[in-house]
Formats: sequence, C-alpha cells, structure tokens
Amino acid sequence: MVAKTIPVDPFDLIIIGATGDLARRKILPGLFRRMCAGQMPETAKVIGASRGDLDDAGFRDFVKDALKEFAGDTAKDAKSVAQFLEMLEYVSLDVFGDTGWKELKSKLRPDTIHAVYFSVGPSLFGEIARKLSGHGITDEHSRIVVEKPFGHDLETAKALNTELRACFDEHQIYRIDHYLGKETVQNLMAVRFGNALFEPLWNAQHVDHVQITVAETVSVEGRGGYYDKSGAMRDMVQNHLMQLLCLSAMEPPSKYGADAVRDEKLKVIRALEPVAPSEVVRGQYSAGRDMASYLEHAEDPDSKTESFIAMKVKVANWRWASTPFYLRTGKRLRGRMSEIAIVFKDPPHSIFEGDFNRKGNVLVIRLQPDEGITMRVTIKEPGPGGMRLTEVPLDMSFADALGDQVSVMPDAYERLIMDVIRGDQTLFMRGDEVEAAWAWVDPIIEAWQDAGSRPVPYDPGGSGPDDSLMLLHKDGRRWREIKS
Ligand code: NAP
Repeated sequence: MVAKTIPVDPFDLIIIGATGDLARRKILPGLFRRMCAGQMPETAKVIGASRGDLDDAGFRDFVKDALKEFAGDTAKDAKSVAQFLEMLEYVSLDVFGDTGWKELKSKLRPDTIHAVYFSVGPSLFGEIARKLSGHGITDEHSRIVVEKPFGHDLETAKALNTELRACFDEHQIYRIDHYLGKETVQNLMAVRFGNALFEPLWNAQHVDHVQITVAETVSVEGRGGYYDKSGAMRDMVQNHLMQLLCLSAMEPPSKYGADAVRDEKLKVIRALEPVAPSEVVRGQYSAGRDMASYLEHAEDPDSKTESFIAMKVKVANWRWASTPFYLRTGKRLRGRMSEIAIVFKDPPHSIFEGDFNRKGNVLVIRLQPDEGITMRVTIKEPGPGGMRLTEVPLDMSFADALGDQVSVMPDAYERLIMDVIRGDQTLFMRGDEVEAAWAWVDPIIEAWQDAGSRPVPYDPGGSGPDDSLMLLHKDGRRWREIKS
C-alpha cells in the first residue's frame, strides 16, 4: 500500500546514470511507488541514459528486476509494474561524447516540466550541464538534480557551483541531501514552529545542550577506496549532520518557503565558531567480532581517515550562546540510530527530598529506527509510599500514532523527486549553504593534516572511542546511549 496524494503536473524526467546503483535502488523504485500512489500523472515519461548498449525493452527489463528487488510488495502488482514500464524510454550516450544528445532532445515533449537527474559521480556534473544546454535539451524552465558529494572542499564546491551556474540559475539547481526528505526532519520544523509550547524554551536559557547522533553498524567494506578519500567529516558531518544542526538551531523563518528557510539555515552555519582540536575526537574502528579493521577495508595500512567523529560545536548568537551542540557519527557502532536530543536544563530548585527532580527533560527527535518524537518527563511514582519521583517517556511513535499512514509514507527520495517536479526547493541545499558548510569544515580538516594526526582506534560494536565519552564528561554531561 502507498500513500495517496494529489498528482503533480505532467513531466519528463531524464535520469543520467539510470543503470547505476542509486537509480536501481532508490530513484526508479521511488518513482514507481509515486505512480502507484497516484501522484505521478499517467502521462509522465522517464528517460534513462547511460553508456550501456540497451534499447527501451532492455532498459524496461532492467527496471523490472530493480522493482522486484527494491520496491517491496507494491511490485507484486503486475498491472502497475506494466503501467510503469510503459513510461520508460532509454538513450545510450557517453557524457563525454557527442552522440545520443539529439535523440534525447527529440524525446522531450513541449509544454511539460523537464527535469534531469544527474545520478553519476560529481566529476561528470560540469560536462553534463554543458552538453544539456549546448544541445538545447534544457532551457530556463528546466530543473536539474545533483547528488552528494557536492565538492570535496570549499574550492571544489565553488568550482562545481560555477560550472552549474554557467548553464543554470540557482532556482533550477536541486542539490539533494536525502536527510532533508525524511518525515521526522520536516516534523522537527512542525514541532518547533507549529506549537506555541516549545519555541519559548528553545534557547540557551532553557536548553542545556543538544546532541545529534548518526550511528551506523555497517563498515566501509566494499566502498573503502571511496570512503578513505572522504572520511566521516566530509561524508556525514559537512552535509547530513550540518543540516540537522541547522534545522535545530535556526531562527523561525518568516514562512515555510525555500529562500526563507534556507536563509535561516545559512545564518546558523555562518554563526558556527571555529572548532578547537581539543573539541574534536576522531576514531577508526579496529578489527573484532570476526570483521576486518578499517585499515584492512580501506586497503591503506597507513590511512589516517576517520570512520568516527565526535565534536563540540558552538553557535555564536544570542539564542545559543553557552549552549553547546555535540555531534557524533560513526561506522561499526553498537546500533543504527539517528536522533536529535534537546536536553533541557535541570529545574532550578528541588522542592522534593533527595535529588529526584534534578533531571532535565529531554526531547528526542528520532530519524531512525522507528521515526518519532519522545519527551522524557518527571512524574510521581504510582502508589502510596510518599512522594517518589520517576522519569517516563511521553512517546509519539509515528507508527503508533498514525497507524497505516506511516507504513505508506514515501521515503526521502520519493518525496524529494516530487518536490523537484513541484518546483519546491525548500528541502534542497542552496549553493551558498554548501559553500558556507565547507568554509567551516575545511580548517578543521587542514588542522589534522598539518598536525599529521591519526584517529584513535575503537572497538567495533560499541559507542566509539573513550575519548568521545570524555568530551562530554569534562563538561559534566554524558552521551545518550546507542542501543543495539
Ligand atoms: P554507479 O552505480 O557507479 O552508477 C553510475 C551510473 O552512471 C551508471 O548508470 C553508469 O552507467 C553511468 N555512467 C558512468 N559514466 C558515464 C558516462 N561517461 N556517460 C554516461 N553515463 C555514465 O553510481 P551510483 O552509486 O548510482 O551513484 C551515482 C551518484 O549518486 C554519485 O554521485 C554518488 O555519490 C551518489 N550517491 C549514491 C548513493 C547510492 O546509494 N548509490 C547514495 C547517495 C549518493 P555506464 O557505466 O553504463 O555508463
């Protein structure tokens, strides 16, 4: 079952790199589910392109297999699958060659929304942009979607922006960070700005600190070569964790709209203080539990790339002065968990005996697993026996609260592709945001490189290096548990 929604306007979507992993696992199954939900108009067309020597029938076979593998139960409906396959066409082309582009152009229909998804490595982005506009495939109304990684540092991100902006206006460029497409991330904005309860407390006067954790159990096995050039800072902090930090820390935008929201996020990034080396912990997983170490996966026995990072970040503005944000992400940890925890200050005075109610409330926004929101509050322990206090969660699991609607919620990619067609850039990163994030991240990485520092080893299956625990202990705080 898939969520029913209002259809978007008719569109032609070109996917360059349509036979790749991302297209197979996310983009094509996502489009299929949107079709089943009635959101994709019957007249929509999806044109795949890559160097593969396929015709339309060959591409449809490829997509049929992809749906079987990645579209879940929805793909059991043969009629829907057949209907989706009818929407597909294919053009064989090499981004660096000159053939195929004319054919691609001939497949586009006038008076229809045109979007091009660059589902290829970023080294191809500039060339694709030039070919699309040079061959008149795109015009000022077209939209392009580009994938992460958006640059390796500030210089490469700027170069990429320059290449894209030579052919497209900023309002045509959709830079995907799929974290922004997650239901809970948008709920963070709904909770903050749709309730009068939280916003008055959402500041340094009431919030002790904020913890943002993205923990993974997987290793880098199979993608060690790519990951080793990147590391946790570039692969996770510069984009995903930065976006979560921005949405947690930003001022209320004047309205829920692309520029209003992105202006406020940009202000947060620009307000970030430089991070002292003593406030960053880098780790690298060791061998254990019958699995190889990071160094074996990376195939460089001398690699200094981190698979874990924890850091204390300060947002230098009135709202957050004196409230630190602790960020943490890593591979091969005890559990798979992504959450933002807003830890409120302790009550200023205890009227009860003992120290029962000196625990601050915690608002947890869970991205995975089990998307939802929990608030920990202190109550009286039931029964006679005096005034004994205990902590309980006020829990809103989306699955419990919204029932069937959750199991049919579109995944991040589905939602974001439909936003592209609708022309809504709110959940996409703007060029200046990406550059500001790199401008903050680059000096931190350069300082490690200058010092030749090495990440500390950590045991797989735990919560990362002990030094990361110390990062909070020395401030009199502790990380929330990473559960298996
Ligand atoms: P991939 O599996 O290597 O697929 C690349 C696609 O591009 C293939 O269809 C390939 O087909 C095509 N291609 C490569 N060179 C080409 C050329 N010169 N001309 C035309 N087509 C060409 O890569 P991917 O994993 O799908 O990733 C695509 C992008 O998404 C990357 O930027 C990646 O970082 C990003 N991304 C991927 C994931 C994921 O889950 N996979 C997640 C987040 C972001 P041919 O070789 O047949 O041409």
